[in-house]
Amino acid sequence: MTLAPWIFLSRQSSPKKLLHLATVSGAQDFVYYHELGHLLMGHLAIGQSQRVEFEADQFARLVVGNTHTDNEGAYGWRVVGAAIPLVLLAVLAAKAGNSSGSPTHPASRERVLAFARSFKEPNASLILAYARGIAAACNPALERWWNCRVTL
Ligand SMILES: [Zn+2]
Repeated sequence: MTLAPWIFLSRQSSPKKLLHLATVSGAQDFVYYHELGHLLMGHLAIGQSQRVEFEADQFARLVVGNTHTDNEGAYGWRVVGAAIPLVLLAVLAAKAGNSSGSPTHPASRERVLAFARSFKEPNASLILAYARGIAAACNPALERWWNCRVTL
């Protein structure tokens, strides 16, 4: 299936409201299932590492990416929304002056790329383009107030 997040056909909801709900639910679900993934995969017992973060991201991606609705446009926006928490982590990392990650957490840029590339083309490119667009929208404020920018 090819993501088509620009298509909205619904008798029950306005396109704008559907976009908002689908995107926000995708972001919320990604965070929720990332944390649930840590619990279900026993990560609390083995401790933090970049590997377990990628595993939890992949768990969340599988849940969000396989949760279909009867509206393919909403599905596309849910998937795009799922990338937003990772983009926001990249924005925060840029502001903190640490875009290279840490021993326990991979660089946010790598997490965004892994998330997008876990989908087949052309969806991977679409997700990455949206993620880069969201990051670019943050750059004027980052540049003005913190003299930094984020690139994905
Ligand atoms: Zn985590």
